Amino acid sequence: MLNYHIWTIGCQMNKAESERLGSLFEETGYHYVPNVTDADLIVINTCVVRQNAEDRAVHKLQNFKPLKKARPDIIIAVTGCWVESNNDQLKKTFPFVDYFFKAGECPPWVDRAKWLQALPKEPQPATYVPIIHGCNNFCAYCVVPYRRGREKSRPLSEIVCEVKELVSRGTREVTLLGQNVDSYGHDLPEKPALSDLLTELNDIEGLYRIRFLTNHPKDMSRRLIQTVAHLDKVCKNITLPAQAGSNEVLKVMRRGYTIEEYRRLVNEIRREIPDVGLVSDIIVGFPSETETQFQQTVNLLTEVKFDTVHLAAYSPRPGTIAAREMVDDVSAEDKKRRLTILENLQVNIVTEINAKL
Ligand code: SAM
Ligand code: SF4
Repeated sequence: MLNYHIWTIGCQMNKAESERLGSLFEETGYHYVPNVTDADLIVINTCVVRQNAEDRAVHKLQNFKPLKKARPDIIIAVTGCWVESNNDQLKKTFPFVDYFFKAGECPPWVDRAKWLQALPKEPQPATYVPIIHGCNNFCAYCVVPYRRGREKSRPLSEIVCEVKELVSRGTREVTLLGQNVDSYGHDLPEKPALSDLLTELNDIEGLYRIRFLTNHPKDMSRRLIQTVAHLDKVCKNITLPAQAGSNEVLKVMRRGYTIEEYRRLVNEIRREIPDVGLVSDIIVGFPSETETQFQQTVNLLTEVKFDTVHLAAYSPRPGTIAAREMVDDVSAEDKKRRLTILENLQVNIVTEINAKL
């Protein structure tokens, strides 16, 4: 029996892709082992959205060098957003790696037909289902469109079939994934919207809950809000990253909305779905962010009172618009201080929300 091990870091899309790779390897006769030293095939699924995620992947990979030396027959493969179309530099730096393959693509040593059909035999009760790959937005700080390419929606009928199959194998909750789920369907011949997909999935017998993420504040439609409000299986939870509270910062981030538009959208969501859970992402210390502009983010969090906020300090990513055209001029100390302020604020907000329950 051959053994495999997958190490994953990063977003839900990476986790979904690792789950699929695991099913594929199981199909081809491999058995999962939690200990990397017992594996004959090791895959590391990487994230480069921030420098610290990239550093962890580098560190992990370097640990495998002595393993490969001791057992040259082991296959080591790297996937995820670290991998580009041209990996000459990576190949030079890590000559002991057998394969590099891009995020969401078929491992080069596997039959593509098998990869296309890979579904977990015994899926988790709650399973991720990618519905749109890539991103067309090019926010100034973000490396994702460069590594995952342009948007590509999966046909609606294919997703519905897949979810039915997952439900027949034991899944009860699905989370539909996309960098911008509001873009779903625009590139398909019949142009279905996320609302159409949710409506079809809601009818699947045996499926209890449907979630989706991430929404984009510039694209989220009134129709989607109403669909979420009315479909009984769709969880009342919206992930709507604001990224900043200042219009100047949002503009240089190229987010495509003003903070007034963002607040109006939040108000509309709360009006239509009164018990909604709201999640946001915030970046502090974006190039040129002043104390006054940061204070506007503090104000946003204080007023909106999100249920969850994912906080990050700006990390310049090579190749992005911000890294090419802007100076990373907020000091590490200021970024850390701003992060701590928001972390403490959010702890108080969540305590207040929980106390009411
Ligand atoms: N598509 C989603 C959106 O529009 O917000 C998020 C995808 S992104 C991969 C996940 C989060 O990582 C972002 O919301 C952002 O807050 C954070 N992020 C992305 N690039 C970053 C950078 N260069 N520095 C710090 N945080 C970053
Ligand atoms: Fe990155 Fe912006 Fe696309 Fe989200 S919408 S993946 S932050 S470029």
